[in-house]
Amino acid sequence: MAENLNLFTSTQEVIKDGLNKLGFGEEMYELLKEPMRMLTVRIPVRMDDGSVNVYTGFRAQHNDSVGPTKGGVRYHPEVTEEEVKAMSMWMSIKCGIVNLPYGGGKGGIICDPRTMSMGEIERLSRGYVRAISQFVGPTKDIPAPDVYTNSQIMAWMMDEYSRIRENDSPGFITGKPIVLGGSQGREKATAQGVTICIEEAAKKRGLNLKDARIVIQGFGNAGSFLSKFLYDAGAKIVGISDAYGALHDPDGLDIDYLLDRRDSFGTVTTLFENTITNKELFELDCDIIVPAAVSNQITAENAPNIKASIVVEAANGPTTEEATKILTDRNILLVPDVLASAGGVTVSYFEWVQNNQGYYWSEEEINEKLQEKLVTAFENVYRTAESRRVNMRLAAYMVGMRNVAEASRFRGWV
Ligand code: GLU
Repeated sequence: MAENLNLFTSTQEVIKDGLNKLGFGEEMYELLKEPMRMLTVRIPVRMDDGSVNVYTGFRAQHNDSVGPTKGGVRYHPEVTEEEVKAMSMWMSIKCGIVNLPYGGGKGGIICDPRTMSMGEIERLSRGYVRAISQFVGPTKDIPAPDVYTNSQIMAWMMDEYSRIRENDSPGFITGKPIVLGGSQGREKATAQGVTICIEEAAKKRGLNLKDARIVIQGFGNAGSFLSKFLYDAGAKIVGISDAYGALHDPDGLDIDYLLDRRDSFGTVTTLFENTITNKELFELDCDIIVPAAVSNQITAENAPNIKASIVVEAANGPTTEEATKILTDRNILLVPDVLASAGGVTVSYFEWVQNNQGYYWSEEEINEKLQEKLVTAFENVYRTAESRRVNMRLAAYMVGMRNVAEASRFRGWV
């Protein structure tokens, strides 16, 4: 049978399994197997040449029993309705794992911002907010950055929302620039969370980060900050890639040099001749692999060839379910996306709390709070995996779904 590469249906399978193991019945699965709301919008945008393009956007809200829904907005040509739905389900689980008072949400627009001007991206972003404005808000559903969206886009969205409501509404969105109520440390938060998970995983395997050889797939927000943190911690980054190819050096790449030369979309390999393919990247001799790009990268085909003893998922859905089983059978420690990439939404939560209270914390305070949340989350998932004899992904789903299932039950929904 062909491997299931459909993120939505494979997520449903793990949710079903996890709820089962937690002792919840079929009705709870019926409630949680899909987002409770899904909005599709069409956004007309006047382009710089005077023509009009109409873009399709989505916003999914998985479950709001715990609190308002929360999650990023992705701008990408390959965004699909199913992907947005699956990602809203993952956000519920992420928020549960780090114990935030949120359910999961997610948005996306089918577009390619790499080919658009700043003015076109601004008009698209404002149009998206006008289209979803009745559906979202600081106590309803709170967007944030994701693939190819950034703090400037969050600023335009916040401005548009505040104008519609005739109210300054910084808590409507997170990942804003600091002067507009953004939080210290938000930009680096996803990579910081991944780094904490790598440190915890390395401890479990008796590996010293200073001696570790690490491969990172992706040089976007997460991949670039992460490579810098690990490089500065003394680890050897032996491979790195972007959408066009990969670079490899068994003695360690000069990360500062590469960061200097990367463009704002994370492209750097096009400047070099000696590149390797993404396929070769995953088979490099190394201790830790961090997929920090797109989904379905580690599959049943390449999982048997991975040489690392630890895989930490910084991207959403980079490892298929079949590959998860292969890695677990090979005793490779897999730290799943819903845990490893939870740093972003955790600092988003701190940003929203600061917006609500109107008082702002220092970067040290943010880092301390983030460290505490993620170390606790890692331990909970690791211990659940050991005591229930399940793989780390299933354990993460079990820890992450408990809040949303119990809140739905207390509210009398199931
Ligand atoms: N887009 C990020 C994620 O997938 C952050 C979401 C947020 O900050 O709300 O976790």
